[in-house]
Amino acid sequence: MAVETVVTNGTLVSSTGTTDADVAISDGKIVAVGDESNLPRAAETIDADGCLVMPGIVDPHVHFDGPNPRFDGPAETYETGSKAAALGGVTTVIDFAWQGTHRGDDEQPGTLRDGITFQKNTADESLIDYGLHATITREDPALFEELPTVVDGGVTSFKMFTAYDWGVSNGFMGRVFERLSDLGAVAILHTEDDSVCTEQATVLEQEQRGDPTDYPSSRPAYAEAMAADNALRMAVESDCKYYGLHTSCEKAAAVIERYRRKFGDGLVRGETCTHYTTLDRSLYSEIGTLAQLAPPLRSADDVESVFDHLVRGTLDVVSTDHVAYHRSAKRADDWWDSSYGVNSLQHSLPVFYDEAVKRRTCSPSFVVRTMSTQPARLFGLEGKGTLEPRTDADLVVFDPDSRDTISATDNASEADYSIYEGRTVGGEVIHTMVRGELVVRDGQLVGEPGHGEFVARTTPDWRR
Ligand SMILES: [Zn+2]
Repeated sequence: MAVETVVTNGTLVSSTGTTDADVAISDGKIVAVGDESNLPRAAETIDADGCLVMPGIVDPHVHFDGPNPRFDGPAETYETGSKAAALGGVTTVIDFAWQGTHRGDDEQPGTLRDGITFQKNTADESLIDYGLHATITREDPALFEELPTVVDGGVTSFKMFTAYDWGVSNGFMGRVFERLSDLGAVAILHTEDDSVCTEQATVLEQEQRGDPTDYPSSRPAYAEAMAADNALRMAVESDCKYYGLHTSCEKAAAVIERYRRKFGDGLVRGETCTHYTTLDRSLYSEIGTLAQLAPPLRSADDVESVFDHLVRGTLDVVSTDHVAYHRSAKRADDWWDSSYGVNSLQHSLPVFYDEAVKRRTCSPSFVVRTMSTQPARLFGLEGKGTLEPRTDADLVVFDPDSRDTISATDNASEADYSIYEGRTVGGEVIHTMVRGELVVRDGQLVGEPGHGEFVARTTPDWRR
């Protein structure tokens, strides 16, 4: 028997340890892992000498088509977004399908299925695989009728906001939790208390405090914790799986920890983002509104705390919350005239690897666990996030000894800046493979737009 590809000489990294072994790949799957002498002959050999071979990064929180229905910026297309992802070692993303259609059309009542159809149509050009979360933006009980079909179609997680015009009330959120619980689906929550944030922002505007360094005060850490507490209280009441998005601070992480201790890993999980583990609010005095995002960057103490919660396992996942904007849309004299969201998909792995392994002496397995295995498992991506035989041959060959200084001039994304500009990191993506095909070879894009496929997800069991 001969196979298509063997990756040799590398150090394989799983979520639990490392081993020196080769990987044989055929028909898009890993067919064997072992010693070269035991593996079948291959048409192509990829030499990973001196490199780590990790399961491809799974980023469960990206916005390729704008951060919200009112988005009017330069949309990241799936082609540009997935190129940035591939260069960053990311082989699967989970993007969002907004209820109804899209793009300034949020007044138009539509269904979750309309949003999913819309998003799949825009995803034709993806180089890498993608799944979708469904975002609930209206309190329309008709939604309950379509939930089973949506889940059957492989969209098994549902986002709700506690803030913004498209946030939902506690009452409606509670009803959604009940239905999701019946279906075994996952509720994913953006939690910031809306009235606190609105009030604080109004005060700052009245006081003419438009300097970007004042922006974080408009969305305080306690408001994030309050809304998380509120939502969790209802989710556990319904036995609904709850995943806290982009946890940015000690106060919100402590809330997740408290519910998790009491109700267990089977019900409560949480995520933070690369930027909350590496950057603090002092960045607003350096690059102003280019760093505007919600929740905001927090204090240096919060960065330490969030990282610590990740190490302790209160938080499971590191995502990017990637949103592409041009500088022109971010720049504003007053922060309230700027837009929310930052891009980071292309640099998330090197930045987080450098932070975790080089600066804080965590293991490479910790990086694989938080950026690949856990997101795949928690969101029902069967066959992803692992290098086990019979799973998808999604992998990244990563040189941990290479040093690179990040510059937005290399961005494949539509975005023309980086919050990590000038940061020197230890570690570089050499090759990225999606289902057996190299989409990045020797740091260069070689993948064909359209290689990426929609991945239907199962309803996960978090107790396993
Ligand atoms: Zn987001």
